[in-house]
Amino acid sequence: MDAGLNIADRISNELVDRREDLIRLTQDLIRIPTLNPPGSHYRDICVYLNQRLSKSGFQIELVRAEGAPGDSEQFPRWNIIARREGKSSGDCVHFNSHIDVVEAGEGWTEDPFGGALKDGKIFGRGACDMKGGLAASILAAEVFIDLVPDFAGSIEISGTADEESGGYGGVAYLAGKGYFAPERVQHVIIPEPLHKDRICLGHRGGWWAEIETKGEIAHGSMPFLGDCAVRHMGAVLDAFESDLYPALSARHTAMPVVPEGARVSTMNINSIHGGQEELPADTTALPSHCVPDSCRIVIDRRYLIEETHEEVKAEVEHLLDDLKEKRPKFEYSMRELNHVAPSMTDKSAPVVATVADAIQSVMGKVPDYVASPGSYDQKHIDRIGKLKNCIAYGPGLLELAHKPDEYVEVDDMIDSAKVMALSLLKLLGPDKGGKE
Ligand SMILES: [Zn+2]
Repeated sequence: MDAGLNIADRISNELVDRREDLIRLTQDLIRIPTLNPPGSHYRDICVYLNQRLSKSGFQIELVRAEGAPGDSEQFPRWNIIARREGKSSGDCVHFNSHIDVVEAGEGWTEDPFGGALKDGKIFGRGACDMKGGLAASILAAEVFIDLVPDFAGSIEISGTADEESGGYGGVAYLAGKGYFAPERVQHVIIPEPLHKDRICLGHRGGWWAEIETKGEIAHGSMPFLGDCAVRHMGAVLDAFESDLYPALSARHTAMPVVPEGARVSTMNINSIHGGQEELPADTTALPSHCVPDSCRIVIDRRYLIEETHEEVKAEVEHLLDDLKEKRPKFEYSMRELNHVAPSMTDKSAPVVATVADAIQSVMGKVPDYVASPGSYDQKHIDRIGKLKNCIAYGPGLLELAHKPDEYVEVDDMIDSAKVMALSLLKLLGPDKGGKE
């Protein structure tokens, strides 16, 4: 160790020296195929993380989200929460990573669970989303603990289940049990792959609903004796095109969502079905002759921090009620399938300012502030945990997530680990001691 260097430089150098360890850790994590669905090998990855983190003095809790959606004896929803106490009282900084990955899908040239290292990139499902981020946060914490053993406060690292399916067996469950209560945790960094020079302040909300139009069955040769539910749905889609879509795209947000196309309200029509069951493409069966008495669509409405859940719902309801007035025999029902609230951390929040400073020191640039078009576990930390001081920050490119040949660059992991470790230094370092 060079006594001439300041502590921040020593931390950065040490992270560079531990490159091989970081690579091995990331590869090990990728090689545990924690696929969701169905939610496999959660216990295995928790046991692995337990062994790793225990060595740095972390106290470990393994928590199964019993009774959460998807939890079963075959696929139990295991989570790990590791906590390392410092030498004196102070804040708790929590790094939260989801342990699950989505299916590999087609089109890979690398083994999705092999963790191959080529040209400074580690390949595999979950490499960037988000085992690379988890590995970077572990190295950051380990180096910080080794070089600043007298730190104040505490560090937590969690590996949580099911983010890719809504987080109910993971962060939502733990938040419900008080793990993210502001008395216990003061700063949360979620190392999702938002890139090493960007701070993600939050995400848009989402509202999913099924709309059904009703009709009356009759013989297809005499449709005038029945009432076609698909034509009623056609009227709904027309109203979406003429009224709803223009209104949504005119509604701009102050949230710095990337890509920019998502800086307005959006809605996807996820599916449509009416009448007879869909036939397989290669069937030799012939269609039955019926007027459909039901047609259903599923809508996926992403909304802004400036809107409310009630408004979003009411807007669609008004449009449907309006059709009911105007269109003979129009009947509908609507059913909410899921809802997640938007979340947006204030730019002046302590964790934002701290990580921004650290990015400036490591990357020599002012960070970009972004928000995510889709949601991640911040919603549960905000809404259930009531903890507002939370961001996403981690290595990797969001564009690679869920794609074939997903990878994370080792250099990016090291840079973001430096940012995380320097953030720990700013929040828990020597000048924070003696707060008791
Ligand atoms: Zn993710």
